[in-house]
Amino acid sequence: MKYVIVAEPVPPLAVAGTSDLFPVARIFCVGRNYAEHAREMGHDPNREPPFFFLKPPTALLPDGRDFPYPPLSQDVHYEMELVVALRQGGSNIRIDDALEHVYGYAAGLDMTRRDLQAQAKKLARPWEAAKAFDGSAPCGAINPASIIGHPRTGAIWLDVNGQRVQQSDISQLIWSIPEVIAELSALFTLKPGDLIFTGTPSGVGPVHRGDLLHGGVENVGELTVRVV
Ligand code: MN
Repeated sequence: MKYVIVAEPVPPLAVAGTSDLFPVARIFCVGRNYAEHAREMGHDPNREPPFFFLKPPTALLPDGRDFPYPPLSQDVHYEMELVVALRQGGSNIRIDDALEHVYGYAAGLDMTRRDLQAQAKKLARPWEAAKAFDGSAPCGAINPASIIGHPRTGAIWLDVNGQRVQQSDISQLIWSIPEVIAELSALFTLKPGDLIFTGTPSGVGPVHRGDLLHGGVENVGELTVRVV
């Protein structure tokens, strides 16, 4: 038996400080996981159950690659996020066991066609056109938990052309990393290589061609993306 076409491989992520590669399975994202961001989007920041959406692995844009401004949008936004990379899968993972499933962490961007998302929300339609487009998941190198541990606090920030636009702390996550893994694993059987973008703090805003985005999560990693 043979394959009838050649599939494009999913780009792997670098493991920071090594020549090792992390193979990416799926990309899950958490919606509204910082109270200030929930408020700026017009929602109640009370602890409603977390909700999730996905980007295809082809959305991945490894650190250093240019972000191509996507077509059919006039309002593409940055969302700086802490990314969790799983080493081990499972379903119905207990909160207490959740961190054992984590390989490491990275800094990532959940790029969003905000105009198409607003339209989808209004019409109660799905979010894929807003969230899952090519290059919509820039992600930095993975820093193994065996080296950096499991961060609970630390600054999360984004600069656009040298101006600070997002600034918070990952201790402000409404749903913690173990809680997110537990909730997600009740809905999906998680797999090694799955990434989880854990949500963005307040300060989201538009990007323009030529912008330089540089962001990071303290003790986790950084990410640089040029909008072209
Ligand atoms: Mn997001």
